[in-house]
Amino acid sequence: MFDKILIANRGEIALRVIRACREMGIQSVAVHSTADADAMHVRMADESVCIGPPSGTQSYLSIPAIISACEITGAQAIHPGYGFLSENANFVQIVEDHGLTFIGPTAEHIRVMGDKITAKDTMKELGVPCVPGSDGGVPDLETAKKIGEDIGYPVIIKATAGGGGRGMKVAKTAADMEQAFMTARAEGKAAFGNDEVYIEKYLTTPRHIEIQVFGDGKGKAVHLGERDCSLQRRHQKVFEEAPGPCITPEERARIGKTCAEAVAKINYIGAGTIEFLYENGEFYFIEMNTRLQVEHPVTEGIFGVDLVREQIRVAEGLPMSFSQDDLEINGHSIEVRINAEKLPNFAPCPGKITQYHAPGGLGVRMDSALYDGYSIPPYYDSLIGKLIVHGRDRPEALARLSRALGELIVDGVDTTVPLFHALLEEKDIHTGEYNIHWLEHWLETNLGNA
Ligand code: ADP
Repeated sequence: MFDKILIANRGEIALRVIRACREMGIQSVAVHSTADADAMHVRMADESVCIGPPSGTQSYLSIPAIISACEITGAQAIHPGYGFLSENANFVQIVEDHGLTFIGPTAEHIRVMGDKITAKDTMKELGVPCVPGSDGGVPDLETAKKIGEDIGYPVIIKATAGGGGRGMKVAKTAADMEQAFMTARAEGKAAFGNDEVYIEKYLTTPRHIEIQVFGDGKGKAVHLGERDCSLQRRHQKVFEEAPGPCITPEERARIGKTCAEAVAKINYIGAGTIEFLYENGEFYFIEMNTRLQVEHPVTEGIFGVDLVREQIRVAEGLPMSFSQDDLEINGHSIEVRINAEKLPNFAPCPGKITQYHAPGGLGVRMDSALYDGYSIPPYYDSLIGKLIVHGRDRPEALARLSRALGELIVDGVDTTVPLFHALLEEKDIHTGEYNIHWLEHWLETNLGNA
């Protein structure tokens, strides 16, 4: 059993892991940059170590600093949270070479799924349905044009190393191909140091449906249903819910079984998410994330399980504490991402929080590292909190979300809270009739957002 875990992250996700550790009787170690000396994760952990200056590259992404912090404090395992080093196979290898445990999948699984072309090939082999497209990488523009003609426009050109919505360009017609192909390549090169791209059919009205899977690393795996994350801006999720309003129990059982069997076959360990686009009753794999997702609380809400606790258990070599038959959906859960951003253009808005009050009451969970007087530093992601609600059904969850948003006070900086108040006035949100383009259209029409 672990006595002490180091959390290689910051903000609400660091708190999330510290809370699980505390409930399990495990000591927690926070790491932080000089800009985060007063951050809540530092205050809440049992110990903390300063690992560098404000820049993420020199602190939260500094592998030597994080390994040294483990050695100084005697932590036996590292939880990476999401973002930063969570999907860095090289980091996992180094952690293991130092005799420490990485709480997450193996370096090999991270490597395979981190390259989108290899991931797609692997999933295809494992029987998971994929978006039609090029067979692997596309070497040049001429080949790209030929593939465009073959699969039919519109198509999407994606950097194989891409992530976070970057390195993706849509070509609506053959005339757009040159520009889209070159831009996707250049973005892949600039952001990820890899200019390999591939092409997929661009689905015009899909929903984003992702399946939560969990494996014990020994050939056993379960699925925890789906999350619908179709409300996106620039391919970034802003509102997530479980179960998906349009998924039937039969569809869930079928795609869930396919996913659980696929990850069981590769002896996957820990939490993973298999992302699909869903259109006309069909699922199309787009990528797998080999980590805990930002939106994992909605799954925890409907199944009543603690996914971080489970990650720690399987990393210790213990069996999962539930089987597929134990997992029953109870009610409906919704999460909204609260960012320190100014509408209508979502410009980052760091600064001092003059007043903070978290909502409460039945079925309300606020995952946030804010406190009165806290200064949001300008160096990191603008996510400052996640408001998660649970209700007996979808209408109750929506009513609860509206009530909880009304109670929330974040003064001193602009946030995305007004966006959610406005969305809750929309009929489509209540009927659940939206696809991945709905929010962008709404923003254009209502906020003049480009
Ligand atoms: P990232 O790794 O950057 O998150 P993904 O491959 O997961 O990239 O895609 C992110 C989002 O981009 C999807 O949720 C969807 O909105 C859009 N997208 C990706 N592939 C397609 C496609 N083939 N057709 C239509 N939209 C797509």
